[in-house]
Amino acid sequence: MQHRAAAVGVVGVVDQQLLPPATVGDDADLFPGLGVELVPDADARQGDLADVGHLLCSSRPGAPIDVDVVNVVAGHGVPTADRPEHAPRRCCPRPYDPNMTSSQSPTRPFPLEEVRALPKAELHVHLEGTVDPATLLDLAARHGAEPPADTVEGVQDWYRFDGFPMFLERYFAVLELLRDPEDFATIAERYLDTAHAQGVVHVELHVSATGHIAEGGKAWAPIHDGIVEGCQRAADRTGISWGLIPDMSPHLGAAVCADAMEEVFAHDLTHLLAVGMGGPTDTWRTDDFSPIFRRAESLGIPAVSHAAEHGSAWEIRHAVEQFGARRIQHGIGVMADPDVVALLVERGIPCDVAPGSNLALHAVDSPEAHPLRRMLDAGIAVTLGSDDPPLFQTTLLEEYQRAWEWCDLDMDGMAALARSSIEHSLASDADKSTWLGGLAGA
Ligand SMILES: [Zn+2]
Repeated sequence: MQHRAAAVGVVGVVDQQLLPPATVGDDADLFPGLGVELVPDADARQGDLADVGHLLCSSRPGAPIDVDVVNVVAGHGVPTADRPEHAPRRCCPRPYDPNMTSSQSPTRPFPLEEVRALPKAELHVHLEGTVDPATLLDLAARHGAEPPADTVEGVQDWYRFDGFPMFLERYFAVLELLRDPEDFATIAERYLDTAHAQGVVHVELHVSATGHIAEGGKAWAPIHDGIVEGCQRAADRTGISWGLIPDMSPHLGAAVCADAMEEVFAHDLTHLLAVGMGGPTDTWRTDDFSPIFRRAESLGIPAVSHAAEHGSAWEIRHAVEQFGARRIQHGIGVMADPDVVALLVERGIPCDVAPGSNLALHAVDSPEAHPLRRMLDAGIAVTLGSDDPPLFQTTLLEEYQRAWEWCDLDMDGMAALARSSIEHSLASDADKSTWLGGLAGA
């Protein structure tokens, strides 16, 4: 079936976080180059339009779209083994301005040093996303590889994305330069030093485990041991606490991820705080990843998951109910579904939000459109993370600054975010108690 002829059964309610109501029916704006007609359907569920939109955006222009898969995503029909070839999901040609501020920015200056002094944990940062331009040039030189640019400024420019597809393409190019244990040790040590300098007492490093194992063809044990070596070097010097979250890349499919994670589970589990699921979520409705999380649980390893970064609140419910996720990375699509808001609030499941990332990858159009304030007001537990800091020209302190400016927070609000990050970390109760004691007067 050719895409131009497709009329997909879709959608009653629009996920306003993702697709403004004004664009409903305007297929040229929603899906440039695809020419797909979306037919509203009273039976469809909230968020379905967003999911179908993401599926269509992920399809290569000019390629046929599997209508069975569209129907499954839209909540109709039966699952099919056929999936569209993976590609990132959102088509966003707008340039990213990392200094974009809210038009409602308060005049009060951000108390940088006071916020730096708050003990805080960082729970949403990807090890491979901490490779700054200078380190990337070092890695390329070490391996005799051609860097994407010859200078720090050139790599900085290369770290600017017009949307998720370009981001993932360049993220995986960085992964390719991480080849031996010392590469991993170096970047881990450098990031923990960077975090320590921002007042971070505990870091939970996401590692793209299935990316290295299944896509990169690398063995897990030396990667793991290199990371541990680097983290321990930093910890010995600074006292910072750390742990690892091996992530799955869902586009690889459940069977591939299951095999790769068995290699992870067969090695040292001492430093594993959780098993994670990265984004995007295109395979969630056609593949069952939950047995992998149950396997981890049987080893005493909890689950966390990316969800509702670009997609709908459905993803959060799926991550919580199917994966057993104890934390959600991003989760900014939650406000479109009050039932999912209630689910997070009632279970005390936090969202590890990364506002700078959300702007950089166009998950939101502007600071005003970001739901952070509404999430806090709804009673959802929130922690702040930098996600992939040098790739998004951000730091954890700059994420706190965004929260300060975008949500008009005061120092009590800053301390509450720091406290939330410690309370929802997977560190030991003894460590948490010590760090929370350091926040007692804040
Ligand atoms: Zn992330």
